[in-house]
Formats: sequence, C-alpha cells, structure tokens
Amino acid sequence: EENLDKRNSLHPVTLSNRINLTLLDNRTSAQQFLKQKISNNIAQGNHDAFYIADLGDIIQKHRRFLKELPQVKPFYAMKCNSTREVLQMMATLGTGFDCASMGEIETVLKMGIRAADIIYANPCKQVSHIKYAAEHGVCRMTFDCEAELFKVAASHPKAEMILRIATNDRDAWCPLSFKYGALLEECEDLLKKAKNFNIQVIGVSFHTGSGCKNTYSFCKAIEDARKVFDIGKKLGYQMRLLDIGGGFPGDSEFRPTFEEFAEVIRHSLNQYFPNNMDVEIISEPGRYYVESAFTIALNIITKKEMYEKGADGERRRKFLYILNDGVYGMFLDFCLLKEKLKRRPILRKELATEQELFPSILLGPTYSNLDELVNEVHLPDLETGDWIIFPNMGAYTISMSTTFCGFPQPTVYFVLSKGDL
Ligand code: PLP
Repeated sequence: EENLDKRNSLHPVTLSNRINLTLLDNRTSAQQFLKQKISNNIAQGNHDAFYIADLGDIIQKHRRFLKELPQVKPFYAMKCNSTREVLQMMATLGTGFDCASMGEIETVLKMGIRAADIIYANPCKQVSHIKYAAEHGVCRMTFDCEAELFKVAASHPKAEMILRIATNDRDAWCPLSFKYGALLEECEDLLKKAKNFNIQVIGVSFHTGSGCKNTYSFCKAIEDARKVFDIGKKLGYQMRLLDIGGGFPGDSEFRPTFEEFAEVIRHSLNQYFPNNMDVEIISEPGRYYVESAFTIALNIITKKEMYEKGADGERRRKFLYILNDGVYGMFLDFCLLKEKLKRRPILRKELATEQELFPSILLGPTYSNLDELVNEVHLPDLETGDWIIFPNMGAYTISMSTTFCGFPQPTVYFVLSKGDL
C-alpha cells in the first residue's frame, strides 16, 4: 500500500488519463452500473452481450496480496486476461509480468515495462522467441528439460535460468505438471548439464495448477524447491530466486480462500527460505487478480420449449435457451471445468417471488454441438430478450475467445469507484 501511495499513481485523474474507464461516484457500485446498463439496453432494444470490468476489484486484490504475502512480488500472468486496461492497471500497481511467448513480451515492452520486470515463464520455448528475449534484454526464463538447455546455450548465453519443478497438482482445476516441471530426482542431472553448457541457473519455480484446491501442494512444492536449492548450491550455483507460481483462487466462493493459501505459504517460506538466505521470492498469479472483476451479461436470443419424461413417466416442460455468447466466446475455461457447469447464473428480471422452476439448458450461439454453457440448471420460465448474468468471468475468457461463426467479442466497459482508490 505504501508503494501505491508513494507513486501516487492511483489518483483518479492520473488513472483515467491512462486507462479508458468510467469513474463511478461513491454511491454507484459496479453492480449498479451493470443494472443501469441493462435497463438502458432494454429501453433501446439493444441485445448485444457485454462485460462490466471493475478495476477497483483488482486494486483490492492487490492490496490483499501485499498484506498477506508481503515478502512475495507478484508477476501478473498476462495469459489470463491481457486486455489493455488490465495490463495498464497492473503496470500502475507496480506488478511485474509473467509472459508465455514473444508476443506477450512484445506487448508489455511496448507499454514501457522494463525487461527486468518480465519473467519469460514458459519452460518450452521456440528458438526465435528465445532470440527475441535475448535481443530485448529479457533474461529470466524457466526450463525443465535438457532440450531447452541446448537452445538457450546457443541463443541466449546471458539467460538467467530458473528450474521449474513438478508439483502434486492432480486435484487442481487445471493441472499442469503432467506437461511441465522436472521431477525431483531429475534435477541434479539437469543442473549438471546446465553447468556443462555454461548456463547460469539462479533459482527454482513451480506451479501448483490453476485453481489449486489444496494448500498442502504449496508446502510440498516449497519444501522440494529448497532441496533443489541445496543441490544447486552444492554444484556451485548462486541460487537466489524462488518463484511460487500462480494457482490462487480469484472468486470469493472458492475454498480454500486466498488467505488460507497465504498463511500456509508464509509458514513454509519461513521454514525453508528464512530471510537470512537472502532469496528473492516472486509469484505468477493470473486468475487471482482478474476472475471476480469481470461480470458478463448475456441476452436470450431464442427460447425453445420442449418436453421430457420425468422419473414418474409424466411429460415435463423443459426450456432450451440460446444465448449470444458461449464456449467459442467467453466460456471455454468455464466449460472445461465441470464444476462451473453446475453454476446457476443470475437472472436480471423482476420475478414474482414464488416462481415454478423448470429444467433448462443454456446454449451458445454457434453451430457447434459443443457449444453448451449450462445443462443442469432449474430456472423460471424466461423469455427471448431476457438478460442472464455470470459473475467471475475475468480469467481465461477474453484471452481464449474466438469469433467462430462471426459472433463478435462483447464490449467491455471498464469502471472504477472512487471509493476503491
Ligand atoms: N504461470 C504459469 C507458468 C502458468 O502456466 C499459469 C497458468 O497456466 C500461470 C502462471 C497463472 O496461473 P493462475 O491463473 O492459476 O494463477
């Protein structure tokens, strides 16, 4: 927080000069702004899907991060949401950036981010991308296998390599260790090979899986990282950086909470990386920062009435609603994560309190049979033209979307309440 105030970059005028946003007065929340927007759309007959992105939510997340993990510097994983406004917000808050490719590095360098504030945290890189990093002074990069060492030795002799280790991330929403991360027993050999290539290794990284469900994954990974530090030191490396990855929850309903993860991480860091080791600790949060800041509003473009046979053999009414965004737009991550498919959206309609509920299916607008958003939900009898809202839609949505069948990306309205500054 001290850092934020010192830079005075969170002044409303400075911010709105830099970022394309609507400043809300203290009495208007982002949710109220969204409600107003829907009322205006209804009045004007506008059915286009849209987003409200609350940048104040991102500021609050950053404050929580600094409070809970003061010894850890966040490098925002921009793959998660790389809208210009989010990147500018992160730059204003003073985070570093975790980039996965040459394209991402180029984007943040063009914004004026220093090469030293970038970590190229993709363990498997194309040679031309490694060369681009070398030409632009981006030196911190991860690796997890010998093939990467060959390429780096040839293309980026000044690289400061970080050995990514595998974690136990099987129960995470999106496990990554089947693909990335060296096993503990492989590390000594890899570090020896790096020595033969004359490559600098400066530390260890890991990722506990996106949507990590288990605080113990962090304890174990930090303990393993310390073992690899000790091996590295024995081989003569100056081990000085620990990268604890991402994986933190971005939605307030998720358990364990961010605070519960942070408590465990603080404890493990004190045990395995005490201050006197003089190790720089960084992290790569993506979902944590942006998931809850974005809310999407969709319109029912077509309603179909169908019948199905219930368990008692009776015919029951059932509704199928086609919405104007789906799996090929903002809902790919949502649909890959089966748990989310059971979520009930929020309805934006004045309804009588006692409403009969009907089995309903929500589908996206494209021709694909995979374009199904929610298939297990009971909803009141809605109409074509009604609005449906999904909160927590900021992570792996816009950055993963396509315009399949010509459906455009929803416009994003960025807002900020002065009360959040
Ligand atoms: N760092 C790396 C190397 C990743 O692969 C990812 C996600 O895939 C992240 C950080 C961000 O993870 P999350 O959004 O779960 O915080």
